[in-house]
Amino acid sequence: MKGTIIKSTGSWYVVETTDGQILKGRLRGKFKQAHEQKGITNPLAVGDNVECEKEHEQEVVSITKIEPRENYIIRKSVHKRGQGHMIAANVDQALLVATLSQPRTSLGFVDRFLVAAESFGIEAVVVLNKLDLLDAQEAEALKATETLYESLGYRFIFTSALTGEGMEEMKEILNGRITLLSGHSGVGKSSLINTLKPGLDLRTAMISDFANKGVHTTTFAERFPLWEGTYIIDTPGIKELGLLDIDKYELSHFFPEMRAMLGECRFGNCGHTNEPGCKVRDKVENGGVAISRYQSYLSMLADEDSHR
Ligand code: GDP
Ligand code: ZN
Repeated sequence: MKGTIIKSTGSWYVVETTDGQILKGRLRGKFKQAHEQKGITNPLAVGDNVECEKEHEQEVVSITKIEPRENYIIRKSVHKRGQGHMIAANVDQALLVATLSQPRTSLGFVDRFLVAAESFGIEAVVVLNKLDLLDAQEAEALKATETLYESLGYRFIFTSALTGEGMEEMKEILNGRITLLSGHSGVGKSSLINTLKPGLDLRTAMISDFANKGVHTTTFAERFPLWEGTYIIDTPGIKELGLLDIDKYELSHFFPEMRAMLGECRFGNCGHTNEPGCKVRDKVENGGVAISRYQSYLSMLADEDSHR
């Protein structure tokens, strides 16, 4: 049988077979080891396409093969530096829900998300929710933010789960694709999804599973169908995406505006901090690279450094 992993709890998986059965699956120990990947703590993630066969027990299958992945997304391991936990595989895009207030999502956080998506080679979209809470001045300021991110090639949309504004655009972005949903708790992820598909309550789904498990350590992801060919992968409890192993000198490759200037600095291995003849810094000062983006770059660079 062939299927897709739609949920992972760490030791158990839920497989949806191509003929629509929902089965509980597991990996055998030997097989698990064979699929261990350097720097990744788990062998299998939501979105993985697999082959499986029924065990003696009905409804339980052994996963016997994992198809090659198109891409995957990891989160930082809380325990081991340099280790990542794979949260999803084979996604079409990563969507960040952000809010200006209640709670506040910082631009630094948005940039980290975008850099992570770039490092996985996955398209990213930013959804600014709770539009209804903004006054005219805030809305105006956010227009400039939208212009900045769109100039970098990212889609940036405004929504309100409360008034329904922007929901058509959100629908169009999601349609026919597998989307990883991300964002701080309280930004309105469940509300947005519930507006698109009334009855699908991410929160409720999450709590019942939590109760079932009785363990608080495992963070897991789950794939939900919205409509034909359209899925979201919810990642409750995952605060921040990780980065694939990247070198200090590589970080700027994941900032599209800096990537565009590759090779223009005087030194080939320019870190764009205080090297003479740095084109990136020139553009920060004279226009072409937004100060907020450069600050995010420096902050990420400092992070990487402090862990070496
Ligand atoms: P999640 O943790 O990201 O899933 O956030 P929820 O969907 O649970 O929303 C958190 C709170 O924000 C709830 O009280 C929602 O009613 C509220 N909320 C969600 N979207 C909006 C919105 O667009 N406008 C306003 N004013 N409140 C919203
Ligand atoms: Zn430079």
